[in-house]
Amino acid sequence: MDTKSSVDFSIFPQKELLTALERINQEKFPANYAACAAEISKRKQNGTWSQDINQEIYANGAIPSYIAAWDRYRGQWAFFWIVFIFWSLFAVFSFVIEAGYFAILVWSAGLVLAAYNRYQRTVFKCPRCLKNFFAGAFGSDANLSIKNCQHCGLAKFAVTDEK
Ligand SMILES: [Zn+2]
Repeated sequence: MDTKSSVDFSIFPQKELLTALERINQEKFPANYAACAAEISKRKQNGTWSQDINQEIYANGAIPSYIAAWDRYRGQWAFFWIVFIFWSLFAVFSFVIEAGYFAILVWSAGLVLAAYNRYQRTVFKCPRCLKNFFAGAFGSDANLSIKNCQHCGLAKFAVTDEK
């Protein structure tokens, strides 16, 4: 019988810890079961255990909704560059083949997409305070180069609540 846990539970997200505790056969793997239960009580004591299961906190303090928000933000930038590159290539290409009205249509579509994309980034919601991270909205100009949320001070790309 095992005396030492064969699993490192400290790297488990909260939800998986609970699932593990349910599934581990306590008779067969008492060490693993004890280690899993110990990790849960450790997190409850040091404050990294979230009451809200949908907002579970990873062992390193990372918050899933923050990670998802920044992934979205990076995705918006990726989308911008894809549109920009294709738009530029198309501009050159359409001159070569003398594409006419069709080219104007595609150019316009590209501009609309880029403008909408810029708007999305302008009103990007801070994952912590859910207000506009860059303070941008209609009437106030967003500064996309700032490093902290204009409302709560969360650092750009931060996935933990640490300052
Ligand atoms: Zn904020």
